[in-house]
Amino acid sequence: MCGIIGVENNENASVLASAGLITLQHRGEESVGITISGKEKMKTFRSMGLVSTLFNEDTLLNKLPGTAAIGHVRYTTSAKSSLINAQPFQINCIHGNVAVAHNGNITNFIKIREMLLKKGAIFSHTSDTEILLHLIAMSKGNLADVVAKSLYRLEGAFSLVILKDKTLIGARDENGFRPLVLGKIDSSYIISSETSAIEVIGGTYIRDIMPGEIVVIENGQIKKSFFYKNSRQQHTCIFEQVYFSRPDSIMFGKTVKEARVKMGEFLAKQMKGIKADIVVPVPDTGYYAALGFAKASNIFFENGFVRNHYVGRSFIKPSQNLRDVTARLKLRPIKEVVKGKDIVLIDDSIVRGTTSKRIIGVLKETGVKKIHFVLSCPPITDSCYYGIDTPIKSHLIAANNSVEEIRKYLDVNTLTFLSLENLVKACSFSTEKEQAFCTACFTGKYFTKISKNTYKENY
Ligand code: SF4
Repeated sequence: MCGIIGVENNENASVLASAGLITLQHRGEESVGITISGKEKMKTFRSMGLVSTLFNEDTLLNKLPGTAAIGHVRYTTSAKSSLINAQPFQINCIHGNVAVAHNGNITNFIKIREMLLKKGAIFSHTSDTEILLHLIAMSKGNLADVVAKSLYRLEGAFSLVILKDKTLIGARDENGFRPLVLGKIDSSYIISSETSAIEVIGGTYIRDIMPGEIVVIENGQIKKSFFYKNSRQQHTCIFEQVYFSRPDSIMFGKTVKEARVKMGEFLAKQMKGIKADIVVPVPDTGYYAALGFAKASNIFFENGFVRNHYVGRSFIKPSQNLRDVTARLKLRPIKEVVKGKDIVLIDDSIVRGTTSKRIIGVLKETGVKKIHFVLSCPPITDSCYYGIDTPIKSHLIAANNSVEEIRKYLDVNTLTFLSLENLVKACSFSTEKEQAFCTACFTGKYFTKISKNTYKENY
């Protein structure tokens, strides 16, 4: 998971790109970066932490003259979380100064890296994105053709924004695993991971960049749009709608919020006849599915938790005792709401099971009577190799345990997962079929070659 943005032909490119990055902050909180060009020599600024860390002085953005910018927020899915791997990556090569920001994982990264090393390439990052820069630097021709030739050699997930002088390029892998959308503000084009970032900066969403498509933009004009591979079929990550994308972003013709409400409605159908006093979401991930469930089942919706937004990832948990304190710090049940009640507790997913176990643990401390635990996606049985940081298969609770075993481990009265069929229906625009989505983490059916040379287990 990462967020990317590009803005061109705009005197305020750096301000708009940074506002877009703040909107995409939920896609990555570990590092941030922005590259500016179009007026002076291309410059890249990167920092660990939130977007606000990079732009912490009001004046900084004014020091970034340029009419085109690309930006990136990073959540580590491959390679170390360190400043050296923060993006955009900027290089100086035969094509001049070129910068790239990438969302996804290149699954044949190790193979290509070894080939490049044998040819004498020198790597300064440990991220998979760097191989793309090497491939670009080693090819001759105009930049769009060079990008196309380079992408042809890659497998896996990549939504990209590339900047050279005033030229902004957007590209998406042939499966379209990660989203990438095109928008416009006045006479400037914007490329973003999500529609919400376009709208927040005052622009209008035009269309999705299609799987396998490369769009070249310059001076407020689409110069070229073409496909780098002929055979392509959309397999967009269905987890974007379950969890990752903002509720106000549009995917497959409807808002993510709408899809999540539908997931809740389908769950209520699956659990027809369930008796409970209240429906409670795990904040914030279960919120819209809980709304849909409550409406469809006629069970009262209640906010049963207070979420503390100020507990960072870095909060140290050296002992079991302090782990419990952390759990209570993050999420505190409201006793008066849940005590003595039968509740339907809704969350988006179970990965290792440890977070769910802790949430259920703090809920039980309040004297709740019964917990029906409900998840708005199917059991996650397989790892993701396409840009989401799920653990390796052996660490996934549903890969190694039956639903009944998970129920017992979590110590809840019932445990229900949304069926894959209903999840696909909830996420689809009327004409979409299952093929439009990647659902590999629920089915083990991957759309690229996954071998022992694949990044996740080996690098
Ligand atoms: S494997 Fe799962 S998380 Fe990864 S892209 Fe496919 S649906 Fe999304």
